[in-house]
Amino acid sequence: MPKDLGTYAPNTWCPGCGDFAILNAIKTVLNLLQEEGTPLEKVVLVSGIGCHAKIVDYLNVNSFYSIHGRVTPVAEAIKIARPDLKVIGFAGDGDAYGEGLEHLIFAAKRNVDITMIIHNNRVYGLTTGQYTPTSPLGFKGRSTPFGTVELPINPLELMLSSGATFIARGFSHGLELLKKIFKEAIMHKGFSLVEVLQVCVTFYNMYAYYDQRVYELKEHKPEDYGSALRKIREWDYNLDSSIPLGVFYKKEMPTFEGNFLNPKAEVIDRQVKIKEILKEAV
Ligand code: SF4
Ligand code: MG
Repeated sequence: MPKDLGTYAPNTWCPGCGDFAILNAIKTVLNLLQEEGTPLEKVVLVSGIGCHAKIVDYLNVNSFYSIHGRVTPVAEAIKIARPDLKVIGFAGDGDAYGEGLEHLIFAAKRNVDITMIIHNNRVYGLTTGQYTPTSPLGFKGRSTPFGTVELPINPLELMLSSGATFIARGFSHGLELLKKIFKEAIMHKGFSLVEVLQVCVTFYNMYAYYDQRVYELKEHKPEDYGSALRKIREWDYNLDSSIPLGVFYKKEMPTFEGNFLNPKAEVIDRQVKIKEILKEAV
């Protein structure tokens, strides 16, 4: 069943989990890519450890099941060794923003041409409900029965300041937008990060909260660094504000792996572009 892309593995996600939306969206996008000339043989998926990671069990596509927090370096290595491949990494919020945060920063800084899809349910789901770097202040879980005493990080702001050239956010209740963003992120030449507000219905059910607050970005100029920063700061993962969805930032820049293939031209071009961005950011 090439169109279905399914496997023999029984699905063990909880009914209602936001991971189903991500699986559904990526299946559609992989089928679209095939129709447009990117065969599945040219795609590699990478996942980490956590509920999210099972996604590679459910997709009949070449994949690498890595270890906790190490999705990004595995994806980078595959891309550098085989620049002709589309490399898509899936990671949870604990996986990507906790254990693997430094890898994410360096991949963004280098502008390696990979796509990272973050299943951000703001909880460690597989280990039954501990707090993560994006859990809000006061979050009550297995490891914090009286509530956390830390503020969450804003990972998209961190990605922008680290040099990511494509930053977007989707929601597991917004399938059409997810498909659109995934496709754009995968086609982007450079480091792309898509955060999905992926609801964990069992340990942190945020559907009602998000449904009331999310809205899609319109008339936003994603090439403008200052506008991207303002929109990214609109919601800090803690306060009761509206939550923008869509593409926050998009910039064309020479890629890291390009330096290996054509060092001189790419390095000089990259230096010129970085200077341009620095001027814009001031
Ligand atoms: Fe999804 Fe949460 Fe169940 Fe994991 S524990 S499968 S994240 S609903
Ligand atoms: Mg999580």
